Amino acid sequence: MSLPAFKLVRPRSLDEALEALLRYGPEAQIVAGGTDLIPSMKQRLFEPRVLLDVKGLGELNYIRFNPEAGLELGALATITEISESALIAREFPVLHQAAASIASPLLRNLGTLGGNLCLDTRCLYYNQSAFWRESLGGCLKKDGHICHVAPGGNFCWAAYSGDCAPALLALEATVQLAGPRGNREIPLAEFYVNDGMVRLRKAQDEILIGVRVPARNAGFEGIYQKLRIRKSIDYPLAGVAAVMRKDSGGICREARIALTAVNPAPRLLPKAEALIGKEFSAGLVDEIAHEAIRTAKPLTTSASSPEYRRRMIRIFVRRALEDLWLGRRPRDGGAKKDLLSN
Ligand SMILES: Cc1cc2nc3c(=O)[nH]c(=O)nc-3n(C[C@H](O)[C@H](O)[C@H](O)COP(=O)(O)OP(=O)(O)OC[C@H]3O[C@@H](n4cnc5c(N)ncnc54)[C@H](O)[C@@H]3O)c2cc1C
Repeated sequence: MSLPAFKLVRPRSLDEALEALLRYGPEAQIVAGGTDLIPSMKQRLFEPRVLLDVKGLGELNYIRFNPEAGLELGALATITEISESALIAREFPVLHQAAASIASPLLRNLGTLGGNLCLDTRCLYYNQSAFWRESLGGCLKKDGHICHVAPGGNFCWAAYSGDCAPALLALEATVQLAGPRGNREIPLAEFYVNDGMVRLRKAQDEILIGVRVPARNAGFEGIYQKLRIRKSIDYPLAGVAAVMRKDSGGICREARIALTAVNPAPRLLPKAEALIGKEFSAGLVDEIAHEAIRTAKPLTTSASSPEYRRRMIRIFVRRALEDLWLGRRPRDGGAKKDLLSN
């Protein structure tokens, strides 16, 4: 599992980084913390001739809040910095919980927000060594022509398996991209493509530079629930981020729910709008939880069964809404006993 040969380029400014991306074209790949890309390179999933190491661009490492711009996060803010920010824990608890659940302390120290949002999609038949994959003749996403998850189809079901994206979707975040044609800002929901191979609406020569959460979403109550095999380190097998604002009478005034790890892209649940203007009702919560499993399409892309992941999505949505609406302390998601106790 050695690394393929590559040339390492370390730009000293964003302009230099953009210039290098233009110069080396598709032969270059951005690396930030490297916690996802480097293992993937060892598996020969990527063999870029040039690695563009952006970690030295201090201008992209910030966490700040002001009442006009809202919460601004630089692409190079590390997951540890986000999970340990008192401001984020207080004003954007759903993002705090999602970031704190990522991988392990060492990986959170290295891993960045930009890398987390741009994560490659994952699949049981793809995230394997070259030798393993070769025995099956590759797959649609890499070196082959068939999808082992849904044979006969020509769609890639590899799942986006990051934790920050659903939290940021629920908070209506936008992403800022810099490229040779200038900067642009788009809703995070539009950044993702629900196709395991296409993944992102980002040109090869663009760099994700930052994320913005509107100030009006500060103070939303929020909960992140996550299913994974080993609670100390693993990627999500299913994740639910939910935020809600209630009035003093307990009427839901705003709510959003987003799912991760159960589709090729993180997805907002359109049906969450049905909660607005309502007081708590177990029937409505069940209805929304049922609707969530119509949006979630987990297939055999991971070691856990699709049925189990769908069931956990339903349980997580129900729990999150009950806890947010009734003001209960969030219950901890993520262990197999969760299913057994329901
Ligand atoms: C054992 C293990 C467990 C993990 N568990 C989790 C988990 O629970 N939850 C989770 O969300 N992640 C998990 N990860 C993945 C990873 O550690 C984190 O998602 C991390 O935040 C990725 O950030 P990075 O800076 O290391 O990304 P990198 O590995 O540097 O990059 C990842 C991808 O993003 C691209 N990229 C990076 N920065 C930019 C940018 N600014 N602009 C454009 N493209 C960019 C790279 O080209 C690459 O394709 C895990 C990884 C490992 C190895």
